[in-house]
Amino acid sequence: MKLTFLGAAGMVTGSSYLLEVGTQKILVDCGMFQGSKTITANNRREFLYDPTAIDCVILTHAHIDHSGLLPKLCKAGFKGMIYATKVTNELCGIMLPDSAHIQEFDAEIENRKGKRAGRKPVEPLYSIDDARICLTHFSPVDYDTVVTLSPIVKVCFRDAGHILGSAMIEVWVTEEGKTTKLVFSGDLGQPNQPIIKDPTLIDEADYIIVETTYGNRLHEDYDKEEKLASIINASVARGGNIIIPSFAVGRTQTMLYYLHNLLKSGRIPEMPVIIDSPLAISATDIFLHNTQDYDTEAIDMLYKDHDNPLLMPQLRFTKTAEESRALNELDKPAIIISASGMCDAGRILHHLKHNLWRSEASILFIGYQAQGSLGRRLVEGARKVKVLGEEISVKAKIHSLDGFSAHADQQQLLTWLSYFKTKLANIFLVHGESEASETFAQIIKEKMEVSTYIPNLGDVATLTGRVWQVEEAEVTSPAVKQLHDYLDVLDREYIEQRKKLEQMGGADNSKIAEIMRSLEKVHSYMNKTLNGL
Ligand SMILES: [Zn+2]
Repeated sequence: MKLTFLGAAGMVTGSSYLLEVGTQKILVDCGMFQGSKTITANNRREFLYDPTAIDCVILTHAHIDHSGLLPKLCKAGFKGMIYATKVTNELCGIMLPDSAHIQEFDAEIENRKGKRAGRKPVEPLYSIDDARICLTHFSPVDYDTVVTLSPIVKVCFRDAGHILGSAMIEVWVTEEGKTTKLVFSGDLGQPNQPIIKDPTLIDEADYIIVETTYGNRLHEDYDKEEKLASIINASVARGGNIIIPSFAVGRTQTMLYYLHNLLKSGRIPEMPVIIDSPLAISATDIFLHNTQDYDTEAIDMLYKDHDNPLLMPQLRFTKTAEESRALNELDKPAIIISASGMCDAGRILHHLKHNLWRSEASILFIGYQAQGSLGRRLVEGARKVKVLGEEISVKAKIHSLDGFSAHADQQQLLTWLSYFKTKLANIFLVHGESEASETFAQIIKEKMEVSTYIPNLGDVATLTGRVWQVEEAEVTSPAVKQLHDYLDVLDREYIEQRKKLEQMGGADNSKIAEIMRSLEKVHSYMNKTLNGL
């Protein structure tokens, strides 16, 4: 069988893998690339496979970086089924049309600018209609139930403990009478998250494809409610709002659980908690009526204490854009939870515009911020940022709490991996920036003595039973290829010039030494660029 890495390879977004067994082609996730312009350019590229030839998709969870290109896939002629859990199915029902709405809106803005500049109009990546058609391909599957995709491929969805409905997927492939087992971790949750169950422990596999978002980091171990209370109380004392950019699905509901506890115990003052994101409101509704997937603590709260962990009297939902804009006029501090979590789009932008410049306000990040996102720039301490076309000076207190992450950290990933009792043939490390994956690869080598491989975009692994080899992807983009060639020429020129300067006296002559230093600088910058390509 062949496994092609189509996304989340050397980065955290765009999750997608193509599994080919004989003539069967199964896609695992079909996620959108998010973050910088170079990364998001991948969304516009043609698929590296023929979409009409794909038999089915198995989808780990609803987050857009795992599901967001499914409407594009269907638009390109995919006719098969998309297998996902009931909750993932329902969440995609709101998230894919929402994503389509953003695509249509972005294209409209681009075209308005383009018209003035005399450029050709651009098409949205996909439309709301495309998203609706895509939803008709979904087929819900139960957790812990083996689904036979064909006589030679069986799969089983297990709770990944990441967001409600999330799954890791076990895949059994039988070739020439021998069965090989792959486990796709999907996004692996952090144990002890409120409401949702802990990640399932699996003890058998030949190959694991594991995410490494936090492969080089440990979540800080601290009292989350205590920390949250201190940030909120300090902000209230200054008279400022608490703005929480949050992923609509998952993180928002986790935050509701903590705020529920803080308000109920009186550890923060009475104040409105506002969910200002139509998507987060719909997602919360889906969470509220899918209690069958809650963990025992949340079930006990619901049925023994008759206390809903997601609801509180202070909670308000703002459905319309007018209601949202009215929040800018609030005269008393409020907690405003809005999307998108990385501040790339959505209503969060106008809350940032109205609060970033106020020294009394707090902006509280509770999730991963991808390279190139506005959220990442704020967390890294930018003093000035552009929001909705306006330059805003950052005076608000910026807090970043990573303990709220829905992803396992280095130790939790290792604990999950160490539960496998069979000798693993290989672990593929995906869904991580290169530093995270490389650090984690080193740790696996030391502690588990299992081989690892960090794939690049387009790499193809051939798995023959427990023997595997990878055909590395060529640099396909002509622009990148041209840049490589250009940098090669510069590199040769550098060596040539350096030689000449050394012959002229080098370090002995201060003028020549100065030229050599600037040449070194250019060369090191050039190498960095080359490594980054
Ligand atoms: Zn996710």
